[in-house]
Amino acid sequence: ENTLNIIGGGMAGSEAAWQAANAGIKVVIHEMRPKVETFAHRTGNLGEMVCSNSFRSDDHEQNAVGLLHWEMMQAGGLIMKTAYAHRLPAGGALAVDRDPFAESVTQALTSHPNIRVSYDEITALPDDGHWIIATGPLTSGALAEAIKAETGAEALAFFDAIAPIIYHDSINMDVAWMQSRYDKGETLEEQTAYLNCPMTKDQYEAFIDALLAADKTEFKEGETAGYFDGCLPIEVMAERGRETLRFGPMKPVGLTNANDPQNKPYAVVQLRRDNALGTLFNIVGFQTKMKYGAQKQVLKMIPGLEDAEFARLGGIHRNTFINSPTLLDAQMRLKSRPNIRFAGQITGVEGYVESAAMGLLAGRMAVAEMTGQTLAAVPDTTAMGALVTHITGGAEAKTFQPMNVNFGLFPSVDTVKGGRKRRKERYKAYTDRAKADWSAWLEQMLRSAA
Ligand code: FAD
Repeated sequence: ENTLNIIGGGMAGSEAAWQAANAGIKVVIHEMRPKVETFAHRTGNLGEMVCSNSFRSDDHEQNAVGLLHWEMMQAGGLIMKTAYAHRLPAGGALAVDRDPFAESVTQALTSHPNIRVSYDEITALPDDGHWIIATGPLTSGALAEAIKAETGAEALAFFDAIAPIIYHDSINMDVAWMQSRYDKGETLEEQTAYLNCPMTKDQYEAFIDALLAADKTEFKEGETAGYFDGCLPIEVMAERGRETLRFGPMKPVGLTNANDPQNKPYAVVQLRRDNALGTLFNIVGFQTKMKYGAQKQVLKMIPGLEDAEFARLGGIHRNTFINSPTLLDAQMRLKSRPNIRFAGQITGVEGYVESAAMGLLAGRMAVAEMTGQTLAAVPDTTAMGALVTHITGGAEAKTFQPMNVNFGLFPSVDTVKGGRKRRKERYKAYTDRAKADWSAWLEQMLRSAA
């Protein structure tokens, strides 16, 4: 039967449904709300924004999330079109009037001749037919159990514990050095996986003081159950004792400072390569609930990170997501059950915009498959392509954590002679290249569909 079934009518499911229905495919959206509630949603609307009302930067020239807005608009995206229609004044950010936004999304989908909405909770993995699972960070318990049974417990997480991620080119390598602990690792890839930042006793003590004093975000009720297994926030570790970090993630053992071999560091902060391109590094074991402003201040006290630029800051949240790099193929299909695609935040992207983007792509991929076309791979020079490439293969599977779109996911743009381009020029070069490549990809897709 040529119907596309979509589980979850959030950001991703709504966009996937819109894309498929407009391409002539019959769609059923299965949405459990309002019958079954989550702790964050308040209404039964499709496309409900659960927390902030911001789609973040709307800068289409020099910002990765702004670029994603642009790419989705070019592809006729419902979520973006509706967001602009209900825009609130907010400087360079795209803030959205959330209730009219969700009501419009609901109206557009429920009145579409190719879409039917079924208000039911899906509790098992479907055996046949074409399906997209877009049930988000708060996927219902029964379905999460069914996914876990299929993928294995290791491949499904109920929390993210995000350590801050830093652009490699903003790390001062006169201070930091590359080495894995006890020089472990056979291959060049393994040997270049870690960077280290040394601390003297004074620097360590000042760092602990700053951690203890920093502004922190409180957990929401019902959010914390289970999070203490092996992913304590660094500030909680510091509260347990001033030496806890020095015997934990900051232990100085098995390392020799290549920039200063005579002096043994009192503590060491380790960073681990976060993507195959080697453009991003995360700080090992540094998940944190510090507020964003405080994180930047405190982390820049780490020697070598004084000028660090953050691809994403740390956090810990209730978040159901799968290990996409091991489970999904390049077409976002579950390798073990290719009749099922995943889309949205459950694939390990983070945020309204990224989730809608992955819904758009999954919808388009499903359409192509159901109409017997082959969809060319999305160029990884586009925001859309960089994200899907990251989750389906570019990210390190072992330490996979949800990701926002950022230019660190893109293949590097050319540098100018005698040095690197200035940051603004680089960002402009990323977006120019992306726009050209996305337009070409879209044109090719629409031509083959015609
Ligand atoms: P959702 O939008 O959550 O949609 C999933 C849908 O699936 C829901 O409607 C749900 O009811 C439905 N569903 C779940 N299980 C089933 C089932 N078994 N059967 C049928 N339907 C089901 N992102 C931001 O960009 N900014 C923020 O400020 C922000 N704050 C957040 C705060 C909290 C507390 C949480 C949990 C998440 C937050 N996020 C935020 C992330 C945000 O949830 C995602 O960015 C976005 O909503 C994900 O889109 P999605 O379509 O993947 O999931």
